Amino acid sequence: MSDTKTSKVHSEVLSANETYVASFGDKKDLALPPARGFAILTCMDARLDPAKYAGLSEGDAHVIRNAGGRASDDAIRSLVISHKLLGTKEWFVIHHTDCGMELFSDEVIGDLLADSLETASFDGEAWSNPKHGGGCVHGRFLKWHTFKNNEASVVDDVRCIREHPLVAAHIPIYGYIYDVRTGRLNEVSDATEAGRPKSR
Ligand code: ZN
Repeated sequence: MSDTKTSKVHSEVLSANETYVASFGDKKDLALPPARGFAILTCMDARLDPAKYAGLSEGDAHVIRNAGGRASDDAIRSLVISHKLLGTKEWFVIHHTDCGMELFSDEVIGDLLADSLETASFDGEAWSNPKHGGGCVHGRFLKWHTFKNNEASVVDDVRCIREHPLVAAHIPIYGYIYDVRTGRLNEVSDATEAGRPKSR
């Protein structure tokens, strides 16, 4: 082990891992392809634990996470691998209530980053930088995949995946919004409808 000073969180993670390793047991025998043959695309929000809200154990399913659970090029790359090489047969797109991606726009984050890279603060209405200087203009050239209408964003993501030329037509794609107040998955019926398998 190195003797570099570690943060509290760093130490906690390594300590938790020691505990996990101690009870790892027969998980060494898990196969690489997900045993239950499905994938979830969902938000990185810390309040969401897909293993818990969807009842997953190690080896069960693919979980692809990014800010917003959006169907970005990279999310679609993972989904295509998930099906083409690892055999998943149905996919879920799961956004959630109170998502941070509804709280800013591409213009807002672009402006904040151009001013400063340090963490911004949010007063419930607007974002501002406590410190100024050292910013970078690259943020104005990225697509951040923010959204204003959560249900519409789930429909968009399901459609974006459904209509992608590398996505097999027979894969059903379901659209849901997880409620951070109750833990419940609520279906976005228009999204699931848009994600129905297509007959060729
Ligand atoms: Zn979110």
